[in-house]
Amino acid sequence: DSICRPTGQIEDAACDYETVETINSQFFDRLDALRRTDFFKFYKVNLFKECPFWNENGFCMNRACSVETEDEADIPEEFRVKRLSSVTTAAPGDVAMSGSDSSCSCSSTEFCHLDDDATNDGVYVDLLKNPERFTGYAGASANRVWKSIYEENCFNGVKFIEPARPTASGGTGFVDKSMLHHSSSPALGPNGGFGGLVSSLQAPLDSGDSEQCLEKRVFYRIISGLHASISIHICHDFLDTSTGEWAPNLECFITRIAEHPERLQNVYFDYVLLLRALSRLGDSRDNFSLRAGDAIEDGAAVEQLDGLIADARACPTTFDEAQMFSGQTRESLELKNEFRHHFRNISAIMDCVGCDKCRLWGKLQVHGIGTALKLLFNSNDEHGAQPVQLQKSELVALVNAAHRIAESLRAVERFRDMYQAQRLAG
Ligand code: FAD
Repeated sequence: DSICRPTGQIEDAACDYETVETINSQFFDRLDALRRTDFFKFYKVNLFKECPFWNENGFCMNRACSVETEDEADIPEEFRVKRLSSVTTAAPGDVAMSGSDSSCSCSSTEFCHLDDDATNDGVYVDLLKNPERFTGYAGASANRVWKSIYEENCFNGVKFIEPARPTASGGTGFVDKSMLHHSSSPALGPNGGFGGLVSSLQAPLDSGDSEQCLEKRVFYRIISGLHASISIHICHDFLDTSTGEWAPNLECFITRIAEHPERLQNVYFDYVLLLRALSRLGDSRDNFSLRAGDAIEDGAAVEQLDGLIADARACPTTFDEAQMFSGQTRESLELKNEFRHHFRNISAIMDCVGCDKCRLWGKLQVHGIGTALKLLFNSNDEHGAQPVQLQKSELVALVNAAHRIAESLRAVERFRDMYQAQRLAG
């Protein structure tokens, strides 16, 4: 039972691992049922934006990278984004952005560049028909995107990155590598691919050991947790190219996650953050509203969502957002703006992902986490306490992102069982 069953307090969260496991054993089915409703399975997304940072031409030619889109005419009227809803008034704080935000007409209070739901530019995707899984997207293009994402984790010129780990010779004592079948990772070059980039970043950065404030640690945990969760899905829904069969790949999981317990911790961290945001949806009718024209008309979805919010509210508090950006000092407001700015850049980096399926899920999950951050941090803002208004796609992204993380925790359970079975058989 030694693999990936962490116990005790989750760092920077308000609860322990055991609480999250208990919650997920009940909450997962609720989330799963909700994301299958028509309201939550159709996501409108712009997959054709140009990468604003570099000339991305590493398109994945693999069939597994393609996304099956829906014809708008086939989407029942009630689940379409209403064009009229594009008539919105500028929110306080709308400003012209500088640097990489310059093309953004969005509000400075947003954590993501929103592909405006109401424009003609997006496509409708049935998420159930396009599961996130192994696509074969790897190498220079994927490395560049991850590297750029981690570079956003730089506040005042100080980066916080994953601390160096002992080498793969079983140094963590976490798993007995001799039990594993040998196979090499096609994604890694001789120097560990991105690993080389990481070490080059590490030298001047004190490898994350230096004292960091809560906000910066949280920023890092969010992206590392998302990265780890994506890796878990890849390993869990993996294509064995020799047999053509899709199956969980234990070695993939061990090398990418189990040997790096802090990555797994960060997945739990994302879980507590998203769960807390879902609970905040129900604080009061004034705390959150859907933009005019975006109301949920699907009775089944309304009922499921109400049940989900009630369940989330019944959970012990998993994350205490009041600890962050506390005090209305100039420093804390600046930090919050910087945090938003960096997260918005990450949402723009998603347009540089050179594989449509990966871009779809990358965009959706960053969008969902950005929505969670908005719910947690915007309701009591420098602009005064305001109800948070969401677009349809923000709510859809939030629910599906929470489901992705919840499914990762489920997959971890499965990998634990596989590991046990392999040990007993060995
Ligand atoms: P990578 O996962 O590329 O990691 C690069 C380096 O980052 C590692 O060497 C390590 O030093 C560091 N690192 C890894 N994990 C963490 C962590 N959790 N925290 C901190 N540091 C870490 N591929 C698919 O098959 N299906 C998908 O759906 C998919 N979606 C993607 C979405 C996005 C947004 C991106 C950028 C890539 C996606 N990919 C997807 C590609 C996938 O994430 C990997 O990049 C690819 O499998 C190659 O993996 P790798 O072993 O080289 O390491």
